[in-house]
Amino acid sequence: MNNGPTPAGRPDVIVVGGGIGGLSTAFALSRQGLKVRVLEQAPEYGEVGAGLQIAPNCTRILDEYGLLDEAKSLGVLPENMVMRDALDSRELTRLDLRDLERRYGFPYMVIHRSDLHAIFLRACRRAGVELLNDQVVVGYENTDGGAQVTLADGRVESAPLVVAADGLKSVARRDLIGDDVVSSSYVAYRAAVPFEQVKDNNVAEKDVTVFVGPRRHFVQYGLRGGEMFNQVAVFESPKALAGEEDWGTPDELDAAFEGSCETVTKGIPLMWRDRWWRMFDRDPIETWVHGRIALLGDAAHPPLQYMAQGAVMAIEDGWVLAKHYARVAAAAPQGAEPDWDGALAAYEAVRVEHCDRIQTTARAWGKLWHLDGEERLQRNAILGARDTYDYGFTDWVYGPTALTPDEEPAMFEPIPLDSAVVGEPLSDAA
Ligand SMILES: Cc1cc2nc3c(=O)[nH]c(=O)nc-3n(C[C@H](O)[C@H](O)[C@H](O)COP(=O)(O)OP(=O)(O)OC[C@H]3O[C@@H](n4cnc5c(N)ncnc54)[C@H](O)[C@@H]3O)c2cc1C
Repeated sequence: MNNGPTPAGRPDVIVVGGGIGGLSTAFALSRQGLKVRVLEQAPEYGEVGAGLQIAPNCTRILDEYGLLDEAKSLGVLPENMVMRDALDSRELTRLDLRDLERRYGFPYMVIHRSDLHAIFLRACRRAGVELLNDQVVVGYENTDGGAQVTLADGRVESAPLVVAADGLKSVARRDLIGDDVVSSSYVAYRAAVPFEQVKDNNVAEKDVTVFVGPRRHFVQYGLRGGEMFNQVAVFESPKALAGEEDWGTPDELDAAFEGSCETVTKGIPLMWRDRWWRMFDRDPIETWVHGRIALLGDAAHPPLQYMAQGAVMAIEDGWVLAKHYARVAAAAPQGAEPDWDGALAAYEAVRVEHCDRIQTTARAWGKLWHLDGEERLQRNAILGARDTYDYGFTDWVYGPTALTPDEEPAMFEPIPLDSAVVGEPLSDAA
């Protein structure tokens, strides 16, 4: 057992978890001159998975960090985001992503998640962040003027601030809040394949396409300059609904997508079948800051992925925290400790409400996507009536990240499903 201090001495901030949330936060705080140490449980830094959509509220931050050009060189800027009915393939609504970039000032990008993670890893290295592996954090505690973590090997590390960015199954969340994850009974299959494998599948290579259908949806977009093609197949697992342990298996995948349109049907055999991701979130909570321990990213607000904002929110969290630290540090008298508590209170005051909105909307969005029968037709009528250039549904999320609650934009007004009369002209349905 090693109980001694680590060679680099006491950091200003310990970040637990080296995922996209942890690394981006470590980088943001190090830009403010703080000495940051990241403790990651895995033997190496890396990301498993396939593509990630990052909206303008994230690319705006990448730009400020000086990382947008690198991200652009590795990612793809799609032309449109198109939503189609998964059964008959009919277009329901679209975002013109070139116009969206004009509106918000920054692009909508898709990027391999390991590429985005590697961008932050390199940025952290350049900034002198101390990146440690094989560091399994098992406990958190507040101390006088700071907080400490206990590692599985018995070591204790302390700092004025501990950021718990340890993901959906966060130990900090368990210790501080004690709530449980919520199963949606939906499961995701992913596949990032060479474009060659899908070129005859009638895919829209320059778009993000989302096929929405009864108890299923299917997402497609190009990756890595169009050399690769990303697919995500999501469905409700009958075994999960029946309370079986072994749910979301490949036989369920095939059955769930039976009867889908041709493009979707052709995409299903390409999905990776050796791993799948069961979809969990948590109920929103109001308290993320406990003394000098702050929850961040999925540890604070794991969403269902339907808004494609989970990683984006984590990156925003780190940006907001660093901005508030900069503010209190600038206000601190020479030689005095900055008002960390003030910075943490400001972080919590603005991020809790925003992330609650995303988590709640993601759940509602998932329900809308997966409707069947008459409700499916009502949804299609409402979506079909939306003007491509109506940004009323995106301004609250894609605009600049708020630093204070009064900067948070108003939410959109949901359109009741039963306000759509199926069969009426689409333009009258909204
Ligand atoms: C199918 C799917 C599609 C998605 N698509 C999008 C999308 O398009 N856009 C988007 O923005 N988001 C998307 N998301 C959500 C996004 O992936 C997550 O919200 C995001 O990765 C969360 O990052 P994080 O750093 O908070 O947590 P994680 O990525 O889970 O990282 C947590 C880190 O902490 C480490 N750790 C855990 N416990 C400990 C411990 N005890 N000690 C030390 N280290 C520990 C882990 O090893 C890990 O490295 C999607 C999610 C899914 C499942």
